[in-house]
Amino acid sequence: MEYVQLALAPLYLAIMLWEYWRYPQRYQGRDSLNNLILAGTFQLAEMLSLLAILPLFYLLHQYRLWDIELTPLNLLWAFVLQDFLYYWFHRASHKVHWLWCAHVVHHSSPLMNFSTAFRQSLFYPIAGMWLFWSPMVWLGYDPKLVLAIVGLNLGYQFFVHTRSTAGIPVFDYWFNTPSHHRVHHGRNPQYIDKNFAGVLMIWDRMFGTFQPELAKVPVDFGVVGFMEPKRWTVMVSHQWRYLWQQTIAAPNWRAKLRVLFGPPLHQPAKND
Ligand SMILES: [Zn+2]
Ligand SMILES: [Zn+2]
Repeated sequence: MEYVQLALAPLYLAIMLWEYWRYPQRYQGRDSLNNLILAGTFQLAEMLSLLAILPLFYLLHQYRLWDIELTPLNLLWAFVLQDFLYYWFHRASHKVHWLWCAHVVHHSSPLMNFSTAFRQSLFYPIAGMWLFWSPMVWLGYDPKLVLAIVGLNLGYQFFVHTRSTAGIPVFDYWFNTPSHHRVHHGRNPQYIDKNFAGVLMIWDRMFGTFQPELAKVPVDFGVVGFMEPKRWTVMVSHQWRYLWQQTIAAPNWRAKLRVLFGPPLHQPAKND
């Protein structure tokens, strides 16, 4: 997964520089610097977490249902299945407070440019993103193959973080595009919790979360009632701190579980 990202890094950088050269007004120095720091710390955390996760995956792989041969068709199924699981991981990240604590980082910028794709939390391994890929390992796909496919899926998503393209006929029926993903980053009432797709748009269409970008509703990027923290350390930690405070304050176990795994609670807007 990390190797896929590292191999694509020069391409990412070239495209980002092009966008900055073409549309400098879409970038702000501090925002982009934070995005790059968040990308680096995310990659580092992912690499370290593999030391624990890979052995666990190989243990689970010993109890696999099938021995899956690496035929082109099985590989295609692996891409589709991983993308399906990604949809549910992403949807859960918006609906479960525990997972939102990591995912909120990706949504906290009021800007949208290619560097926004890099805005990721180093706490994803603790939140348990990897758990969502475990069904593939259990079915019989090799853990390293699964992680490579996760990397390719995330790699595709770099390209949907831009304000540069309008709709792409036919393609945008089936696939995630910048227009669809701009909607996902919007805090306008019509756009909240829509378009969770990674690569294939069909999941949103099937499960009722699809929303096209409307010409008369320009996307307002960011999180409702939320002011972007200035420091990256606050970006990755503030929602966890809030989760902790709310869990402690909850009067009984049932209420504590609701705080942890119920819908995300939004803390009052304040700056650090
Ligand atoms: Zn999201
Ligand atoms: Zn995004």
